[in-house]
Amino acid sequence: MELSRRDFLKASGAGAGGFFLYSVLKQDKAFTFPKQLPLKKEIGERTTICPYCGVGCSAIMAVEDGKIVNIEGDPDSPINEGSLCSKGASLYQVANNEERLTTVKYRAAGAADWKDMNWDDAIAKIAAKIKATRDNSFIEIDSSVNTVNRTEAIASIGSVFPNSEEAYLMSKMLRALGLVYIENEARICVSSAVAADGETVGRGPMSNHWIDLGNSDCIMVIGGNMAESFPIAFKWATRAMEKGAKLIHVDPRFTHTSARADLYAGVRPGTDIAFVGGMIRHVIDDMEANPGNYNMTYVKEYTNASYLVNPDFTGPADTLDGLFSGWDGSKYDKKTWAYQSDATQPDKIKKDATLTDPNCVFQLLKKHFARYTDDKVVEITGTDKTTFQQICQTYAATGQIGRAGAIVFSSSACQHSTGTQTVRTFGILQLLLGNMGVAGGGLDGITGAVNGLGCTLQGLVNHWGPGAGSVRPASSGEQSLSAYGENKARFTSILKAWYGDTDHNTSFDYLPKRGGDYSWQPLFKAIDDGTIKGLICWGMNPAVSGPNSATARQALRKLEWMMVIDLWETETAAVWKPEAGANPANVGTEVFLLPAAHSLEKEGSVCNTCRWNQWRYQGASPPGEARSDLWIISKLMLKLKGLYAGQTEKNAVAITDLTWDYGNPPDVHQVAKEMNGYDLNTGKLLSSPGSLKDDGTTSCGNWLWCGMYTEEGNMAARRGTTDPSDIGLFPSWGWAWPLNRRIMYNRASVDLNGKPWDIAHPVISWDGTSWAGDVADGGWAPVNTSGKYPFIMKPEGRGHLFGPGRLDGPFPEHYEPWESPVSNPMSSQQNNPAIVVWETVDKGAAADYPIVVTTHRLVEHLHTGAITRRLPWLVEMMPEMFVEMSHELAAGKGIANGDTVVVESARGSITAKAIVTIRLKPAQVNGTTVHYISLPWNWGYMGLSKGDSSNLLTPRIGDPNTGIPEFRAFLCNVRKA
Ligand code: SF4
Repeated sequence: MELSRRDFLKASGAGAGGFFLYSVLKQDKAFTFPKQLPLKKEIGERTTICPYCGVGCSAIMAVEDGKIVNIEGDPDSPINEGSLCSKGASLYQVANNEERLTTVKYRAAGAADWKDMNWDDAIAKIAAKIKATRDNSFIEIDSSVNTVNRTEAIASIGSVFPNSEEAYLMSKMLRALGLVYIENEARICVSSAVAADGETVGRGPMSNHWIDLGNSDCIMVIGGNMAESFPIAFKWATRAMEKGAKLIHVDPRFTHTSARADLYAGVRPGTDIAFVGGMIRHVIDDMEANPGNYNMTYVKEYTNASYLVNPDFTGPADTLDGLFSGWDGSKYDKKTWAYQSDATQPDKIKKDATLTDPNCVFQLLKKHFARYTDDKVVEITGTDKTTFQQICQTYAATGQIGRAGAIVFSSSACQHSTGTQTVRTFGILQLLLGNMGVAGGGLDGITGAVNGLGCTLQGLVNHWGPGAGSVRPASSGEQSLSAYGENKARFTSILKAWYGDTDHNTSFDYLPKRGGDYSWQPLFKAIDDGTIKGLICWGMNPAVSGPNSATARQALRKLEWMMVIDLWETETAAVWKPEAGANPANVGTEVFLLPAAHSLEKEGSVCNTCRWNQWRYQGASPPGEARSDLWIISKLMLKLKGLYAGQTEKNAVAITDLTWDYGNPPDVHQVAKEMNGYDLNTGKLLSSPGSLKDDGTTSCGNWLWCGMYTEEGNMAARRGTTDPSDIGLFPSWGWAWPLNRRIMYNRASVDLNGKPWDIAHPVISWDGTSWAGDVADGGWAPVNTSGKYPFIMKPEGRGHLFGPGRLDGPFPEHYEPWESPVSNPMSSQQNNPAIVVWETVDKGAAADYPIVVTTHRLVEHLHTGAITRRLPWLVEMMPEMFVEMSHELAAGKGIANGDTVVVESARGSITAKAIVTIRLKPAQVNGTTVHYISLPWNWGYMGLSKGDSSNLLTPRIGDPNTGIPEFRAFLCNVRKA
């Protein structure tokens, strides 16, 4: 490796400032490659995908004598075009790091230190623990005499970093064992976006993709600091700006993104619904005054604007109490949220094409958001009125036919007790402006981790199996495959992939049925109360990442056993140590710490946040005895199969019958092919999910991945760099699910006859017999020919302005965060009425904790810092935990830049270094000055840089739809240490 520390700092320091390493290497005359760097002929090159965020940048590993000697951006990638941010540019230090785990570590109950253990002994011990815990707790039949075949005594948390093939095998193993407490980071990161977008347009993931941002006329980044958190993706926003697009940034902090924006609005944390609600009100008013400036056909035909709702429906605009009709004190009865049906055709929804009926969705929407006046928005958010009005006008201009606006957001929009409804406002605005399905439009929610989509969609959250088919609750009454309430062809094909020759009607019962809420917060409660005895923690660090970390750490110390698989000793693995504030002698948890291979040391596919699957190759062998997740899962499962051989009780057949024939070591290509699926009559790989059958003649581990590994080969490995579309679809670079479609809902990009709204940027177009361009979403002919509408995942094919499926209302309404220093200026309903509270201590009162806290990401560190705080280059660039505060707050507290301060909430306190900055400004709310501070959340007690975790302060409360915690707005106080 010839890139020195000085070179790295020089190069990636520029990257953090908005330029990029590749550009620096190319353009900086002072930088020359050292003479001794081998020529390409003397050195092997393999490509990989950066293992950090969801952008999916491609990199080239230079390999010499089995060692990675250099890693740099891949100029062929249409996504990053050779650029890497500081994290990607520091990958060399992951591949060559002396602190990596190289042996299996075992910690006995009460022991003060680790002992080395060999793999065979460790796997034998772990398998025995799993079997004993499972068998002692196994529930075959529940109290309602349903076959449920589950254990509630073992939980799994993880992950979003393994390859999709590894996540798939993990899911297969865990479900076969009967686990139901299965969660990963998606729950606490962006789950509310999935609930929101699912309601609004039918699917959760980002609708468009990075390169497509370059087609936008206006990009609004709200709830995120794209320039720092996803710097390489941000260059596509700046690419659009070079062509004249406007950039809007809405955020509590003035950040790198704000600095590049044409318009920046500062807002109080937790008030995005009010801000975007005001934008929706502006658009509706303007739409009525100037309908020619909007695509009214889109609104009338492609949304549910014309649908008539039950006349008994009322909302906060009618009652002024902040509630919708049907609230019974604990939940909504949604009877009055139903559509009116046509008396002559009861299955048909009544509509008013003029959009004037007072019960039509458009009029209800107008009435609901009429209260979000400019003054009310300013009063709630504390934003500048003139800037707000400019933003309304600028973004509303994307409603013209032929123009497009994109909304980009990430976890800071999602991690609120109103997270789902916050993201719903984004979707409503996009539907009103005709911005869904078109090039340069979209709802672009970013996943923070490299394979957040690829792992979660293998079924690593409790309520989803592979392909996001729901894991059915026993209460559904579906006691046989014939009664199964979802897509039978997909589920039958999973059963054939997992149980081979076993009749699918029989194997239906092998898999567990749910009996309650097994999501993140109930999971930790179940650890705390002793229900869960064993935890499998795969590449995740819940001792730092979950809310109210002190309670999470206490809970972890109550486990009988824990298995942690990671690259380094994480805070979770070390939760029994004095560094965690524990006395090892008092902690009875047996811990197995298994050394994992890094992505640079194995092969497989990852799915970026745009749904693009890309194949990454092995550059080197893992250090010492570290092994790939695929190897570890396979070794463990084969051991378990051996232990269960011959057993007949406790649903042992679910384990012994499980297909597991991937070779030794396991072949990742075999796994990828199993996910894709086979025609069992011909033995050929399937080419698309349309060929799945419910009669047992097809197998398919995950229908969304069907088409990725076909008889034509491994589509994710494709590196085609041509773009016949001229709008940046790059259809032969990797493979996007579903069906290699690059822009979802793209039948909304054309009129009722299939002609593109924007002829300069056609996504698809109809020539009278077939579609040209992207893979059409749904495939049917245009609406006027087929009668099929573009939002194919919604029952009526229309986008939902009115969303009756959520638990907290069909329209978004502003409520204050659970902890807030002000009374809700909108109504007497202070918090989301359906909020879920798991907190065991009182909520912090504003009198004791008057300051609002929000949290943020950094370009140098990822998530809990478990990887990045181990890398000297990154630690040197971002060395310690800090707190940002305004000059006004600092002056009032007698705090100077660089002082150590104590930040306290009702949960706990932390110390951090003060950064006094103009990036934060106090807000004026109803004449009250509201101060706020911001904390990064990347620190813990292990690694090269140690510091207090901001999650020691956060509350255990959540959005009612998904339970995502409110990490981004809660209360604290601050004082000089
Ligand atoms: Fe690209 Fe994200 Fe990696 Fe940075 S961290 S190089 S933006 S994938």
